[in-house]
Amino acid sequence: MQIIKTQNKLAGSQKGLEIIEEAIRAGKVNTLGLATGSTPELFYQELVKSDVDTSNITTTNLDEYVGLAADDVNSYHYYMNDLLFSKKAFKESFLPDGTAEDPEAECVRYERVLAEHPIDIQILGIGTNGHIGFNEPGTSFDSLTHKVELTVSTREANKVHFEKEEDVPTHAYSMGIKSIMNAKKIILFAFGTSKAEAIKNAVNGPVDENCPGSVLQNHPDVTIIVDEEAGALL
Ligand code: PGA
Repeated sequence: MQIIKTQNKLAGSQKGLEIIEEAIRAGKVNTLGLATGSTPELFYQELVKSDVDTSNITTTNLDEYVGLAADDVNSYHYYMNDLLFSKKAFKESFLPDGTAEDPEAECVRYERVLAEHPIDIQILGIGTNGHIGFNEPGTSFDSLTHKVELTVSTREANKVHFEKEEDVPTHAYSMGIKSIMNAKKIILFAFGTSKAEAIKNAVNGPVDENCPGSVLQNHPDVTIIVDEEAGALL
């Protein structure tokens, strides 16, 4: 694991972009795995400003809320279109379909997408409870794309994005921990004091399903980019 401590979220996002740009320019990125939430917002802003050519790159996203359509402002489809896809060209982009009628078939379909587009670099955030993607504590390290029930703490953390608390979906489709670990390279961003404990457990704690992020200790190529607050307990 490589840990990069930066002064703040902007510096961390720019550092992540630098690593990804270099890989893209070296022709090493066919598929880029993307994440949503507050953490990668500045990274996407910086990527939009960059002149790096992404038009031959396929993207895959970690997760999507169950029940939200692509045009719902709270869906991750909408987030990605708004922040990135409407501003920078990619070859094609995949996310789980929150409106799929058959959840099991949707998980199988999405795993097939991932098999056809092996991820060269996966961007990750981490939840305050150590989750990666929407893989909450206790999720099997062998998990593939699955439908998950969100924990109270995750719904609490995400309610800022919704008008009413009861609007926060209770379930999501998420790439599993094994699907994430299949990425050749992983870059995890964590910013702010609320992430310090999760980062400490992911980096220095036991490799344990109670802290999904700790699985990254078993991956051969992980870079963790933190600001001073998120790295305070390392
Ligand atoms: P956040 O979420 O970026 O909104 O803090 C990160 C995560 O839960 O993975």
